[in-house]
Amino acid sequence: MNRRRLLRFGIAAAGSAAIQAWNPAGIRTARGADAPLVYPFSLPPLAYPHDALEPVIDAQTMQIHHTKHHQAYIDNLNAALKDHPRFHGVPIDSLLRGLKDVPEAIRTAVRNHGGGHVNHQMFWSVMRPPGVENAGGEPQGELAEAINSQFGSLEQFKTAFVQAGTRLFGSGWVFLIAEPGTMKLSILTTPNQDSVFLEPGRAALFGNDCWEHAYYLKYQNRRADYLNAWWGVLSWDAVARRFEQIKTGKSPI
Ligand code: MN
Repeated sequence: MNRRRLLRFGIAAAGSAAIQAWNPAGIRTARGADAPLVYPFSLPPLAYPHDALEPVIDAQTMQIHHTKHHQAYIDNLNAALKDHPRFHGVPIDSLLRGLKDVPEAIRTAVRNHGGGHVNHQMFWSVMRPPGVENAGGEPQGELAEAINSQFGSLEQFKTAFVQAGTRLFGSGWVFLIAEPGTMKLSILTTPNQDSVFLEPGRAALFGNDCWEHAYYLKYQNRRADYLNAWWGVLSWDAVARRFEQIKTGKSPI
């Protein structure tokens, strides 16, 4: 991350001058560049205040979700790895991809809490206040073409995504994933905190959190309402950056 990219963010956020003052370090983290990828893991600061995603996601939900739920996944992941120094230099995506090599005693903890950590890190990084970085807008260029060719139209894709998230039984995630190489897109749901990294050849363009803790205070049992409203804070610019990374062989966390 350099100054030019920070400035670009500022320009993209024209009309919301305060965004630059919020947390420039957090902006870097939100792009996935600076967050620690190895043990000990720590909570990535957000690129926006907890109330910035109102009215789609209320401030209290954001605050609890970020500082309590996500922090707990990180604390539990660090605790599981504490006595296993051989894994301290292993990036989190490699830990999940190579889960079978993790000792059985901590394998479930790494799967659940490591998955919880990467899922939430991705989740914060693809959201922006409505209107900022094309949040609530429409994808452009190659990303738009990929969605249209795979799903027919953006609206058809959104309907299928919301339907998949609504039908997911219990707690879990709904993702739009890309197959690196072909960039073929598909919708994937995973139970609990299972990460897309658990299977080879998967990379997430974005995902939405279908745990009740993500929406219950405002939407109660109406998960579909939450999923539909969430398009208002999904930054298609952030998704396009991940699309580009995957296309060029990098796997965004
Ligand atoms: Mn969550």
